[in-house]
Amino acid sequence: MFISIASLVFSLAARAEVLFQRGSVMSTYYMVKIEDDRDSRLFDAIAQELKRLEGKFSYYSEDSELSSLNNYGREGYFKVSDEMVTVIRDAINIARESGGCFDPTIGPLMELWGFKSRKPSLPKEREVQQVLSYLGWENIDISVNSAIRFKNNKVSIDLGGIAKGYAIDSIVDLLKSDGIRSALVEIGGDIYCLGDGLSRGGWKIGVQDPKEPKSVIAKIDIKDSAVATSGNYERFLDYKGERFSHIIDPRSGFPVKGDILSVTVVAPRAIDADGWTTALFVMGFDKGRESVESQDNIEAVFISQGEGDYDIWISSGLIDKVEVL
Ligand code: ADP
Ligand code: MG
Repeated sequence: MFISIASLVFSLAARAEVLFQRGSVMSTYYMVKIEDDRDSRLFDAIAQELKRLEGKFSYYSEDSELSSLNNYGREGYFKVSDEMVTVIRDAINIARESGGCFDPTIGPLMELWGFKSRKPSLPKEREVQQVLSYLGWENIDISVNSAIRFKNNKVSIDLGGIAKGYAIDSIVDLLKSDGIRSALVEIGGDIYCLGDGLSRGGWKIGVQDPKEPKSVIAKIDIKDSAVATSGNYERFLDYKGERFSHIIDPRSGFPVKGDILSVTVVAPRAIDADGWTTALFVMGFDKGRESVESQDNIEAVFISQGEGDYDIWISSGLIDKVEVL
C-alpha cells in the first residue's frame, strides 16, 4: 500500500514539466508559467483570452466595449455585458471602501495630465478644479438589468487600475478548469501563484527595493493568492525636472506625492490586489495601514522612508509569510 502511494507521488513529480509563455497585453508584458504536462494548445487559449479582455476593457481603443459605454452612457442607459458590470461593480466597491481614493472615473484627469498620451503637461490649477467638479464614482448609475448611465455627460470610466488584475483572475480560472495544479500568471508585475510551485518547493515572490528595483528586500510565500505592487519607481513621467506618479489622488486632482515608496498587496483575487495597491498608495501610510487591518481579504507590505533606512510595515496576517532580507 505504502509503496504504491510513494510511486504515485514519484511519477507525478517526474511528469511535471515547466512551460513558459510570454507576450504583450494592455500596454505591458505578460508571462504564464505552467508546471504540468500540457501541450501548448492552452497557450493559444490564454493568448486569445487576453486579447479578448484587452479589446473589451481598453480605454484607448475606439471599438472596445468600454469606449462604447463611455460614449453612449452619457446619453442614457447603455446595456453592457455581465462581465463589464461585474468589473465595474468591483471597481465601485474599492472606491467606496477606500473613501474615494480609488476612483474608476479618473480617466479625464489622466488625460488632463497627459498620461494617456505619454506627453506630460502641467495643467493649470483652474483646469484641475474644473475636471474634478464633474468626476466621481457616485456618478456611475447601474440599473438592475446591467445597463449603465452616467449622471453627467463628462464622466467616463477608466479601468486601468484593475483591468490587469481581472485579466489575471480570468487566466487562472482557465488554467484551473483545465486541471492545472501549479502555475504562475503575471501581467506587468501583478502576479497570481496557483498551487504549490512544484519546481521550487513553493512560490516565493520578491518585493523590490524601491530605490534599487533590481534588488529584492523581502520575499513573500504565496499560494493560491495574488500579489501586486504600486511603487513610485515603476511608472512615472519626468517633466521639467519633476517626477510625477501615474496614480492620481482623486481628492486633489494631482499625482500622488505621498509618503509611501511602495505598497504590495496580497489577496485571494488579483483584481483586489491590483485595485488596492492603487487605493492604498493614494491613502498613504497611516490611513492605508488602518484600512488593511480592518479588511479580511487583503494583506499588505508598506515601504516608506525612515530615518536613514526604510521603514517596512507588514500586516498582521502576513507576518509569518514574509522574510525581510
Ligand atoms: P501600478 O502598477 O503602479 O499599480 P496600475 O497600472 O495598476 O499601476 O494603475 C495605474 C492606472 O490606474 C493608471 O494608468 C490609471 O488608469 C488608473 N488610476 C490612476 N489613479 C487612479 C485612482 N486614484 N483610482 C483608480 N484608478 C487610477
Ligand atoms: Mg495596480
